[in-house]
Amino acid sequence: MRRTPAIVYFCLFVLVLVCRGQADENCQPGAPCPVCDPPRSGTELDALREGNARFRSTPNHLHQSAECAKRLACCQKPFAIVLSCSDSRVPPEIVFDQGVGDLFTIRVAGNVASPAALGSIEYAVAHLGAKLVVVMGHQRCGAVEAAFCPRPGPHIDAIWDLIRPAVRKPLPSCEHHERVDPTEWEEAVRTNAKNMAKLIADDLRGGSAVKVVSAYYKLDDGTVEFLK
Ligand SMILES: [Zn+2]
Repeated sequence: MRRTPAIVYFCLFVLVLVCRGQADENCQPGAPCPVCDPPRSGTELDALREGNARFRSTPNHLHQSAECAKRLACCQKPFAIVLSCSDSRVPPEIVFDQGVGDLFTIRVAGNVASPAALGSIEYAVAHLGAKLVVVMGHQRCGAVEAAFCPRPGPHIDAIWDLIRPAVRKPLPSCEHHERVDPTEWEEAVRTNAKNMAKLIADDLRGGSAVKVVSAYYKLDDGTVEFLK
């Protein structure tokens, strides 16, 4: 088999450098970040409420074009941070009918405020200027259900440890598929979202301009309820 000449690799390397240089030239440091049309109106929380109402009736899929993505190629200015579960049924951009550049999302099983999640939120607040953090739990969350059972083992423990304080009536064993009481399950989802919001608010102390709220997403009808 013939070997590729070294000059070919060298040319490819130079081409990558040239392309990177051109891309950076398009992005001027300090230039104002453009918004995709039409822009948002009202408060950040209003925008999410209105977006969820559209999702349940007629989504308009704002800001979901390649043209919008191109405009935001150099910068981002998301108006809200959403910490939600990794569950495939609760994608924040879809349930809030938002688009490219609108939400800074962190997704992890049980929407837990892990060190990595807290670091991501700190970054978005400090560097992207987001003023609203939403922790969104959801109906029938499997991660919360698992927190009713004994500690599971490596890696999942890190999630279990954060959710477990929300569980009022843990099960002694889940070896025989013992059922979690549905009312207790839903209550634990709500308590867990509030607990995580508290952890985040405590972490952001000093950044008082940021509002941290918890929410509950109902799988049955797509409604997001903001919790008191
Ligand atoms: Zn979940």
